[in-house]
Amino acid sequence: MPIDPTLPYDDNNIFAKILRGEIPSKTVYDDEWAYAFEDINPQAETHTLVIPKGRYVSWDDFSATASADEIAGFVRAVGIVAREKGLVEPGYRLMANIGRNGHQEVPHLHVHIFGGQKLGPMIAPEFAKRG
Ligand code: 5GP
Repeated sequence: MPIDPTLPYDDNNIFAKILRGEIPSKTVYDDEWAYAFEDINPQAETHTLVIPKGRYVSWDDFSATASADEIAGFVRAVGIVAREKGLVEPGYRLMANIGRNGHQEVPHLHVHIFGGQKLGPMIAPEFAKRG
């Protein structure tokens, strides 16, 4: 079920529990600002999630209210994860789903990193034709 990104942060969301170590996850990267782990239900050869350490529901919330240090730390962490996974030269895709139309299911900001294979066109063919 997609979440409402305008609701307050819920400390019981699954990624908050992962950050607190209450639920296991396969760690990829960890620093002061961000934590990266493998998606439990991968949609590509490489499917890694990167989340900020802070309590942010979505990209909207984060971009509006996070500090410059938090934003820089998070963005750098996404880049480091992709680089350390060897995704830069072959290329990769970043995605952040927001709210109902974006089909965001977990109410803690996360960026998906997809790679390890050709990922196809970004936009569904019926919409790409309109371009
Ligand atoms: P969203 O649709 O919110 O952008 O993506 C949520 C992602 O979180 C999905 O790709 C889903 O597979 C992943 N996910 C949900 N629960 C867990 C979990 O408990 N552990 C891990 N590693 N990933 C999860």
